[in-house]
Amino acid sequence: MTSPVTDLAVPSTLSPSKITAFTSCPLAFRFSVVEHLPEPPSAAALKGTLVHRALELLFTEYPPGSRSRDAAQKALDGAWQELQGVEELDGLGLDDAERIAFLVDSRVLVDRYLELEDPDTVRAIGLELNLSTELNGVTVRGIIDRLDELDDGSLAVVDYKTGRAPRAEQSRSRLSGVHLYALMCEAELGRRPSVVRLLYLRDRIVISAAPTDQAMRGTRQRALGVWSAIERACKEGDFRPNPSNLCRFCAFQEFCPSFGGVPSLAAAALGDSAVSTARSSEPDASAPEPTAVGPRCLSA
Ligand code: SF4
Repeated sequence: MTSPVTDLAVPSTLSPSKITAFTSCPLAFRFSVVEHLPEPPSAAALKGTLVHRALELLFTEYPPGSRSRDAAQKALDGAWQELQGVEELDGLGLDDAERIAFLVDSRVLVDRYLELEDPDTVRAIGLELNLSTELNGVTVRGIIDRLDELDDGSLAVVDYKTGRAPRAEQSRSRLSGVHLYALMCEAELGRRPSVVRLLYLRDRIVISAAPTDQAMRGTRQRALGVWSAIERACKEGDFRPNPSNLCRFCAFQEFCPSFGGVPSLAAAALGDSAVSTARSSEPDASAPEPTAVGPRCLSA
């Protein structure tokens, strides 16, 4: 048995996706975020990127009154063109039929977005808004999909999700990421949004909540608590596996003790970039595609 590697470099920043990754599985977080080990491209993640870009183009290229279904599909065409030749798409190794299926499914997601809201009524004042703030000395960063100004002048944080919607009892925990965005808005823009909304496109479900004082306090405490846990894990080299449904999509399964693997072999097997202090990419830890259900709204 080998001793754990201690005093690993702590990530330089915290973000909603890092919080999700660490709380989902500390060991996978170590491989991905702390050691920066390479992961194969993910069709689900790339589809999410494509659909997010299409919706961004819908709001930047088409003024209110022209954001029809056709416009949304044209925006998707534009986003798809931008992806051609990009390494992540080529890395998926899709054949012609699979590429068509990938695009068709993305079209379905864009169509379903239009079942959740009328984009002609949306006044977006920020798209892919990059925010950074300090929480007790910890740098917290995040990219807000969309920041809206509502009719009463208040702000709304909107986050698109292309993965599966949570069960009703899990919806509160899924809101913690967007609550962190609300906290960042308040710190950086001086205004706390009146509502945060998660739009689950595939399932046609909207989960929304008001960022109350209590929610903001809880979000802040949770973020700082996760940060302390990350620091402790890096210092002690103690990143435990947390087996779940997400293991099916984990690129590090063969090095995971829960599957008979040895974590210390991962860096040598997957690359020599271990224990870097560079900022990592931020994988979406949400699970992939669900079975579609009818339109509905949830309020948590
Ligand atoms: S296989 Fe599962 S438990 Fe193991 S590192 Fe991956 S996500 Fe974590």
